Amino acid sequence: MSKKLLEVKNLRSEFKRDKSWVTAVNDVSFTINSGEILGLVGESGCGKSVTSLSIMRLLSPINSKISNGEVLLNGQDLLALNKKEMRKIRGREIAMIFQEPMNSLNPCMRIERQLTEAILLHNKISKDMAHKRAYDVLKSVGIPEPEMTLKNFPHQLSGGMCQRVMIAMAMSCEPDLLIADEPTTALDVTIQAQILDLMEDIRKTKNTGILMITHDLGVVAEMCHRVIVMYAGSIVEEASVKELFANPKHPYTQGLIASVPKLGSKVTSLPSIPGSVPDLSVMPKGCKFAPRCKYAMDICHTEEPELLDIGEEKKRRCRCHLVNQQEEEVKR
Ligand code: SF4
Repeated sequence: MSKKLLEVKNLRSEFKRDKSWVTAVNDVSFTINSGEILGLVGESGCGKSVTSLSIMRLLSPINSKISNGEVLLNGQDLLALNKKEMRKIRGREIAMIFQEPMNSLNPCMRIERQLTEAILLHNKISKDMAHKRAYDVLKSVGIPEPEMTLKNFPHQLSGGMCQRVMIAMAMSCEPDLLIADEPTTALDVTIQAQILDLMEDIRKTKNTGILMITHDLGVVAEMCHRVIVMYAGSIVEEASVKELFANPKHPYTQGLIASVPKLGSKVTSLPSIPGSVPDLSVMPKGCKFAPRCKYAMDICHTEEPELLDIGEEKKRRCRCHLVNQQEEEVKR
């Protein structure tokens, strides 16, 4: 049975730029249930990775801070923990895999040491047992010769193998929540499919909740149950995968979906969203998407829309004046 695993409430994260603070993630709230894959999508710079690093408490304290919110994992607020307590949670209850496996592994350490150190940190077991667990976990992620791979340095492995090792490391302590930040972007298409299959297997067998951060809507359509669309640091839409692709409500989501090539389509060029994501320090007044939105009305340039529950069952959320007006008309 699925239970509420992660609850992010009103998260705000800021970065220091020159002498002032700019908001990179603003008032972000969402939940993930155990065994559920939630997609987090949007263009580069929309706040996806900052959200995940905030949940992991991995933002640099030198130039960034979480200035508001709660991150409840199994009911415990991660933002209230000290560094030592947080280190215990990372790996054991929550783990992350990054976009560039080659950059995430230590190039000077054999895979065995990197894996067993992670296992020994969270389990009171002997080195022999940790070696056995490392071997088993490499095998479980489809590495054909685990014993040999354990002896390798990262540079002796391909990108796909390194990503498998990263997933093995993330899964070695069977965390409840896995955060995958563009886990397949650096890999070729065949390996991408294998890594996604592997994550789906892990979800099914361990009931792991997964936050899948990606700009690839194909990955979302294939893997996720629900999707959150972010723009300029805020959530602009949330829906089930089926609803989002069948009937995207927010003009930004509509633009993202329209820009994906359709199988069998004969069109020679795809529409793109004009303009670019606004600079964090000079956000437009009102709706942050207004300068790029073909439906922008006067109110859009002066009042920021709220993220409201929409749809008959109020199971979707959307931040748009136009959608709000349409919802009101349906009610009348
Ligand atoms: Fe476009 Fe206005 Fe909706 Fe913003 S609020 S997405 S500008 S219609």
